[in-house]
Amino acid sequence: MNSLLLTGGRVVDPANRFDSLADVLLLNGKVSAVGKSLSAPAGVQKFDARGKVVAPGLIDVHVHLREPGQTAKETIATGTSAAARGGFASIVCMPNTAPAIDNAGTVALIRERAKTEGAVNVFVTGAISKDLAGEELAPIGGLKKAGVIAITDDGHCVQNNDLMRRACEYARMFDLPLMDHCQDYSLVTDGVMHEGYWNVALGLRGWPAAGEEMIVARNILLAELTGARIHCQHLSAAGSVALIREAKKRGVPISGEACPHHFTLTDAAVAGSEKFWAEDGKTLFRTSHSGVRTPKWPAYDTHFKMNPPLRSAGDREAILAGLADGTIEILASDHAPHCDYEKEVEFDSAPFGITGLETELALSLMQLVHTRRLSLADTIAKYTVNPARLLGLGKGTLSVGADADVTVFDPEQDWVFQREDSASKSRNSPFFGWQLKGRVVATIVAGRPVFIEQQTLATV
Ligand SMILES: [Zn+2]
Repeated sequence: MNSLLLTGGRVVDPANRFDSLADVLLLNGKVSAVGKSLSAPAGVQKFDARGKVVAPGLIDVHVHLREPGQTAKETIATGTSAAARGGFASIVCMPNTAPAIDNAGTVALIRERAKTEGAVNVFVTGAISKDLAGEELAPIGGLKKAGVIAITDDGHCVQNNDLMRRACEYARMFDLPLMDHCQDYSLVTDGVMHEGYWNVALGLRGWPAAGEEMIVARNILLAELTGARIHCQHLSAAGSVALIREAKKRGVPISGEACPHHFTLTDAAVAGSEKFWAEDGKTLFRTSHSGVRTPKWPAYDTHFKMNPPLRSAGDREAILAGLADGTIEILASDHAPHCDYEKEVEFDSAPFGITGLETELALSLMQLVHTRRLSLADTIAKYTVNPARLLGLGKGTLSVGADADVTVFDPEQDWVFQREDSASKSRNSPFFGWQLKGRVVATIVAGRPVFIEQQTLATV
């Protein structure tokens, strides 16, 4: 069954500037028609989408699947099933696996396994440097031939500017975007949280915003010098947004992405829920919910440790402003699963990162749409047409003839994210117990539902 008729939903397809009540007919894995009162051929199932939003299948450009090598944390099967639950029809996986994705063989292994075990489409990135060590370039042409859609050393950052320049030149030659995890090692050293008031109050080593901004500035200069397209991953700092805003005005081929934890939480969260809700979290729920119970957590909770770290209230505002004015075109999770035993240690020793695939749509709707910072269509664009365009995925739209990848969600539905409901193999999310607004109803890949929440299908 790879055909389906979705009836009566609010169809939002930013690529075609379409936002209207309509039916969507999926036939044989492709979008066949979008319009009023469509009828389906005999035997095609109907999906009642009234009261729901029907969007092109969402795309997450920043996911750690951990396979091969770290399958205790996540596998291609569990990671893609978390993606399906979160509304994602396509994900882009990062190369910091073991072995790293720095050779054609590992690319082939992941693509093969994703085809047989993956619930959703998996696009693969290759490393910039061999073993992500930042010393010698990976075989970029060979990686492209093997099917990678971008290169990145995510989790690591090439420190040698000349090596990065050469990577840009190769990336441009092979028409691959270069994604960068922006972290200057000499400034960040062994920091574990944002350098500001709270790291001093908590006695934790600081990680200055300049540790990110320095590399964003470097990337702007190299994009300008080489003409390569550089995409700055998981932006967290106000200065990064200002630099990219200014560079884009000059036409530099630079772009950026933001993750919901960076525009929902701040560094005050590391001091515990009481401090967070009394300070930076005061207004978080005001405009999106009434009468929500605020979740509790202790100080030094390692589920609030990520790379880059949660930043100040001012940085959080700047990221939101950058999303609102289009400086930041892409939303992503940086889904980074870790086992409980790895996170259940002192803050200093815990690994960086949280899971995010199942909460990112709701958190984005809450902070952007329900607060009226951004329209629903512009928010959906950051999960569909914008990432598809950056990476040349040929997806992210409901144009007739496009792959029948569709996400159906109810933007108004309240729900509580429960630990036992997660499909990820890991449980390192700071958002368990949170009342969220905006719930995925169905994720459809190539005309087949891969996740359906409380919805019955009827055959016409
Ligand atoms: Zn990263």
